[in-house]
Amino acid sequence: MSNLFSQCEICGCVTSLNLKNGVCFDCKEKDDELFALAKNSMKFGEKMLLEELSNRSGIDCRHILRWVRYGRFGD
Ligand SMILES: [Zn+2]
Repeated sequence: MSNLFSQCEICGCVTSLNLKNGVCFDCKEKDDELFALAKNSMKFGEKMLLEELSNRSGIDCRHILRWVRYGRFGD
């Protein structure tokens, strides 16, 4: 992937800005909502399969993987 352009992983727009957590400014709020939902679906210290968390929270695996990739669960 080029360092010049980043693609928002929610709406798919392309920007020359460095996207925080892989999403554009317009999608940030939506991403925070989804992330809170995923995080609240998991008890502290709990371990589960990606599919289980996806099923439980109703959130697409690709978003969960992205948060893992960006180290968001360590917040
Ligand atoms: Zn976006």
